[in-house]
Amino acid sequence: MVIDFDRTIAYRCAACGEITYGDFSLFELSGKKGISVHCACGESNISITADGRTSFNVELDCVICDSPHKYSLKFDTLAKRDCNDFQCPEVGVGLAFIGKNKSVNMAMEESEAMVGDVLMACGLEHTGKNGILMLKALDKIQDLSENDNLKCHCGSRVIDIEVRENEIVLKCCVCGTKSVIDISEIKKNGFSRLSKIIIGQK
Ligand SMILES: [Zn+2]
Ligand SMILES: [Zn+2]
Ligand SMILES: [Zn+2]
Repeated sequence: MVIDFDRTIAYRCAACGEITYGDFSLFELSGKKGISVHCACGESNISITADGRTSFNVELDCVICDSPHKYSLKFDTLAKRDCNDFQCPEVGVGLAFIGKNKSVNMAMEESEAMVGDVLMACGLEHTGKNGILMLKALDKIQDLSENDNLKCHCGSRVIDIEVRENEIVLKCCVCGTKSVIDISEIKKNGFSRLSKIIIGQK
């Protein structure tokens, strides 16, 4: 029997929403340092570090709920199972997959298809790879609106929200003032912490 020590890790970056892939060997996990894979945007990483002799901690920031998540992974499980998935406890979306290359790729593809279905159900299928971020941003904007924190400089609270592929356009239905929120602004971590949006006011 030939034992395959190579493993693949795939995760969704919490900052930019892209999927990042990395390869490692089970031997690389033997040291104290463990391994980590970084997204090309430089804003996030996923790490696997030793937790005692027989298990590991898998840690990453969550693209869905913005919190850091920590999972325990037994060495046995990692060695034997073709694919281990790590989901956000808030929503059943796979954030990361670790295992054999083929199985990980397949699992991520399936997960992408599932996310696609959710986006379709929300009428956001045109946002493509920005889908999850747009969904989150829209949720945030609706949240602000419900709490009276979305308004126009003219005083109006009747705001039209249009989600495009790379931006969200907010338009006041009274005076017509527009505010465009670019995807790069949404990708910045501060967006989810905004306490109010006032259109036409910088
Ligand atoms: Zn990224
Ligand atoms: Zn989460
Ligand atoms: Zn207005």
